Amino acid sequence: MELALSPAGAGVLAGLEAAGFRAWVVGGCVRDALRGKTPHDWDVCTDARPDQVIACFARTVPTGLVHGTVTVLWGETPVEVTTLRAESGYSDGRRPDHVEFVTDLSRDLSRRDFTVNAMAWNPRTGLADPFGGRADLAAGVLRAVGEADARFAEDALRILRGLRFSARLGFAIEAATARAMERQAGRLRAVAAERVRTELDGLLQGAAAEEVLARWPAVLETVLPEIGPAVGFGQHNPHHCLDVWDHTARAVGAASADKAVRLTMLLHDLGKPGCFSLGPDGAGHFYGHAARSAELAEGILTRLRYDNETRGRVVRLVRLHDAPLPAEEKAARRLLNRLGERDARALIAVHRADTRALAPAYHHRLEELDRLEALLEEQLAQNACFSLRQLAVNGRDALAAGIVPGPAVGRALDALLQRVLAGEIPNDRAVLLTELAAYAG
Ligand code: ATP
Ligand code: MG
Repeated sequence: MELALSPAGAGVLAGLEAAGFRAWVVGGCVRDALRGKTPHDWDVCTDARPDQVIACFARTVPTGLVHGTVTVLWGETPVEVTTLRAESGYSDGRRPDHVEFVTDLSRDLSRRDFTVNAMAWNPRTGLADPFGGRADLAAGVLRAVGEADARFAEDALRILRGLRFSARLGFAIEAATARAMERQAGRLRAVAAERVRTELDGLLQGAAAEEVLARWPAVLETVLPEIGPAVGFGQHNPHHCLDVWDHTARAVGAASADKAVRLTMLLHDLGKPGCFSLGPDGAGHFYGHAARSAELAEGILTRLRYDNETRGRVVRLVRLHDAPLPAEEKAARRLLNRLGERDARALIAVHRADTRALAPAYHHRLEELDRLEALLEEQLAQNACFSLRQLAVNGRDALAAGIVPGPAVGRALDALLQRVLAGEIPNDRAVLLTELAAYAG
């Protein structure tokens, strides 16, 4: 069986073999190549020790010598080369106490998480697949290597990796592996926030994110306890044919792939259960839920150590997720004024995803959002004024018109901008100068 190995991968294998060592490409790259996808990088494993790997190549970086990893620079391409190893004694449920270099490829493959990730390949000796990864790949199944409970107890992050792969590849999780994930999920509480965040981001980006979110709330609750009240929470409202969590899952799946938009959809309605009231007509209401969701989002994104920019953007998008967005030119300008170009687009994407996850009778809203987006593009193309920077007059003009130096200058310019945004006056220098004179007088 042939794999379309990259020049860098082939070069590194050949370099190690020329020095008398054995070497294979291994893990995710083999999985992706067998699926017909081009791997984003090729990892290599070898029986050469790290010092021997370093001696084989002109340019190397000692990436993780204790774990046996050396990065070989093949031209501009980095290739991670790891010495075959066995791991033992995961007393903290996160990383092994002992790493031991071995010469048996199968032992190295046996420490890997899922069968589809536990294959190695070499152009001369072919595929090494001691755990049936190829058959699982063909069947679209994720199966833990070895005894699932023990593997998740060793390293609970594997549970989230499993959900991430399931969302990314659209693979089902084999029954015994799935039960072990549920049983061991509590151990995820001990996993570092950064690692949880990386897997959560990967899961949300996946094409099957909706199915995975809808299927696995119990596991996700260990790292996101805030989703608990949303699961199974009926909405008693004709807009909604789904409970809050299933609506959430669908909204994530319906969102554009933009990372901030997907995160926003995950968090946008988490405040609903806490804001529920039943109207006299028997319909459910959630007054104030956007603000409550924004508070919860702030807490979650802080705890998972998201960067400040992402946190700020997502919290704001959550807060505005149900603000009215009429398809009007002035609404488009106000949106640009308030959020800037990138987040104005993101907010429309959020509204679109939310609408797609409503009962079909409400999908006509999508046309309005399309119209608003077209208006927004039009305003941008016309270089319309939506910020003070773009106003055809500035502070100097205000002073020249006789406005008292100090805060009055900002107030006057702001008042003009508001009128331009509202479409009451054009962003025309002569017009604005006349207006300034009137303010001063
Ligand atoms: P991706 O496409 O996300 O890079 P990947 O499978 O290559 O997927 P990596 O995190 O790059 O994932 O890890 C490379 C390989 O190392 C995996 O395919 C798997 O064999 C092994 N591996 C990584 N993390 C773990 C873990 N926590 N437990 C067991 N094996 C792991
Ligand atoms: Mg990888």
